[in-house]
Amino acid sequence: MNDKSYVSLERHVCLVCGVSFDTGNLLLDKRLRASMDRHTTTGWGLCAEHQQLFDDGYVALVECDPARSGFSASADRLKPGEAFRTGRVAHLKREAFAKVFARPLATEQPCVFVDAGVIERLQSLVAPTPN
Ligand SMILES: [Zn+2]
Repeated sequence: MNDKSYVSLERHVCLVCGVSFDTGNLLLDKRLRASMDRHTTTGWGLCAEHQQLFDDGYVALVECDPARSGFSASADRLKPGEAFRTGRVAHLKREAFAKVFARPLATEQPCVFVDAGVIERLQSLVAPTPN
C-alpha cells in the first residue's frame, strides 16, 4: 500500500482552536518523489473564522490546562505545540486586553494562552448573569 504522492495539500493548525485547515497551497516534492501524504501540516496559522476575528481587532484567549500543558500559561512561555487546550476560548477586543491584563500584546499576536479559570473570572466581570 503506497498512497504517497509528490504533491500534497498544505495544512496549518489554527493557533486558537487547534483545528487543521487547508491553506490552499500545494506542496511539491522538488525531485518529484512520492514522498508525501495527501495532507502535510507545515505550521501554525489561523482558520478562516479566527482570522476574521483577528482582523476585526480581537485577541483570542485560549484556555489551557497547566497540569497537562507541562507548565503554567501565565508564565507566557508556552509554545503552541505544548499547550493542552481545554476547548474554552474567549475573544476580547485588543484595547480591552490592555486594560484587563497587565501584559503587553504584540500587534501581530492573534492569541494568548491563559490558565484554567481565567476566562470564567473574566466573564463574571464583564457579563454578570442576571439572577
Ligand atoms: Zn480556529
